[in-house]
Amino acid sequence: MYKAKAWAAPSANAQLAPTTIERREPTAHDVQIEILFCGICHSDLHTARNEWHNTVYPCVPGHEIVGKVTKVGSAVTRFKTGDLAGVGCLVDSDRTCPECKDHHENFCPNMVMTYNSPDEHTGKVTYGGYSQSVVVDENFVLRIPANLDLAGAAPLLCAGITTYSPLRHWGVTEGKKVGVVGLGGLGHMGVKIADALGAHVVVFSGSPGKKDDALRLGADEVVITKDAGEMQKHAGSFDFILDTVSADHDINADLQLLRRDGNLTLVGAPPTPLAVAAFPLIFARRSLSGSLIGGIKETQEMLDFCGQHNITADVEVIPIQKLNEAYERMLRSDVKYRFSIDMASLKA
Ligand code: NAP
Ligand code: ZN
Repeated sequence: MYKAKAWAAPSANAQLAPTTIERREPTAHDVQIEILFCGICHSDLHTARNEWHNTVYPCVPGHEIVGKVTKVGSAVTRFKTGDLAGVGCLVDSDRTCPECKDHHENFCPNMVMTYNSPDEHTGKVTYGGYSQSVVVDENFVLRIPANLDLAGAAPLLCAGITTYSPLRHWGVTEGKKVGVVGLGGLGHMGVKIADALGAHVVVFSGSPGKKDDALRLGADEVVITKDAGEMQKHAGSFDFILDTVSADHDINADLQLLRRDGNLTLVGAPPTPLAVAAFPLIFARRSLSGSLIGGIKETQEMLDFCGQHNITADVEVIPIQKLNEAYERMLRSDVKYRFSIDMASLKA
């Protein structure tokens, strides 16, 4: 074991604060990564504040990690010291179940998440990217395309794959009409990726001030959801809608936007249940489903796609000392469009 600086939530009601954690020395299959940037996902906030009722404290969030390899185990073949590396929401899985065999480690019943999962190496829970370094099995480490800005590439590891995976799964291509509900970290990545896939993209936002940004990010149209007339204009017209909203909202208003057999996929994870009415679903045979991040193979595919299309998140780079303030701003939907922590600030 060795010691690493980190920031942790000590309890659900306390602010995050500096601490020291223990990391394992790299075993034969491990890669040790010095973390350069870590994105701030709304899931970090849900977890730090125990909004999903499963948090173990102290909790070190962070699952949008990019950094530099500082050490590799004797059996590691895919990485060497000095390489760029990325880590997303998963650091292990059982590797034997049908989901793992099918490259869906994200649906493995025994997946180990990057933070707040039981850690067989330490006997505690896993600690995430708000930290100096991390040690991860090479099979769960991603390659970062060399042309991408690192601060903006970090959010691809969660916000990027969480939007790319359902867009691909539901066949979004040129000519499809796609809605993205909520223009935050996930939403703005959804817009960029759906645009790169050739879709006609419409953003649904509760924030009138985000209209110009939505168009700049790649949307073809923007609807402010409070405007019932604008909503009605789009009724029954969408092939696919990606819902990224982090809190309770009127999902029935979004469902009625779908055409016959259209699908709305929830990626947002509000802590309280949504009230779904039967009628928007049974009329027009619409479907409602969910999606959780993506498998490791698909995450690499997404990173390569973003490399080819020069896609990164629009980030506001912050020192880690601004973490608590960033959480408050994220709650107010005041982030353009992802915070990315410059880990050099951890040394200060
Ligand atoms: P975020 O940056 O805070 O964005 C959420 C957006 O939702 C806000 O910018 C806002 O957009 C909209 N919103 C917030 N509160 C709202 C309300 N009360 N009513 C209507 N709209 C509201 O969060 P994020 O990091 O993108 O994460 C979004 C959600 O996805 C979180 O619940 C997170 O835990 C979840 N998540 C899921 C996965 C997965 O694998 N499924 C992965 C990562 C994150 P406007 O200002 O445009 O309205
Ligand atoms: Zn996330």
